[in-house]
Amino acid sequence: MSDEDLDLRARKVFSGPIDFLKSAPGLRHLPGPTVPEIALAGRSNVGKSSLLNALTNRNGLARTSNTPGRTQELNFFDVGRPLIFRLVDMPGYGFAKAPKDLARKWRLLVNDYLRGRAVLKRTLLLVDSRHGLKDVDREVMKMLDEAAVSYHLVLTKSDKIKPTELDAVLERTREEARTHAAAHPLILTTSSHAGQGMQELRAAVLEAIA
Ligand code: GDP
Repeated sequence: MSDEDLDLRARKVFSGPIDFLKSAPGLRHLPGPTVPEIALAGRSNVGKSSLLNALTNRNGLARTSNTPGRTQELNFFDVGRPLIFRLVDMPGYGFAKAPKDLARKWRLLVNDYLRGRAVLKRTLLLVDSRHGLKDVDREVMKMLDEAAVSYHLVLTKSDKIKPTELDAVLERTREEARTHAAAHPLILTTSSHAGQGMQELRAAVLEAIA
């Protein structure tokens, strides 16, 4: 598919039907692995819900699943009718008192999912552009490397910092991505509030499931 066709298809797919399917607290609850999946992960407060809403052009989508007590579940969204692929919203991490450690429950759930899921085509690993990569993100990158799940690092909230600072964090992130086996060389810069980078992200998702 040409870049132009990919772009058009991405626009069409993301403005079409997208529906919350289910929350899965464990492997037994996963939907059947019948279509490709794209997962979203990131530290709590990184802007994951906002990005999911901006990406899909709808306001309440991510909130549907973010009801309290459901924070340790994988949330599945069906994209397209007939179904084309699924978006998987992973629980946020790095919120506990020991911010450097991934919570045990999070690690167990996510590791199980990452390792056994052949339909998982790519993960979008969100990083706040003001903070850059943290040790807890590096732990997740290592998990993805070990599970051989390809991932894009996605910088969020780009409207919050100056362009020169953004360039610097982008360069640092790029350099670090080079040292990770499963990290995709393309790092995306986004702002859900300003709408920046959304179309590139949609195209990257479509490219990953192609
Ligand atoms: P989550 O915990 O990762 O789902 O993060 P949320 O999407 O709930 O966002 C956390 C906070 O960051 C909220 O106050 C959002 O309004 C804010 N936020 C999210 N994305 C952006 C963005 O692109 N720009 C700015 N300026 N703020 C953002």
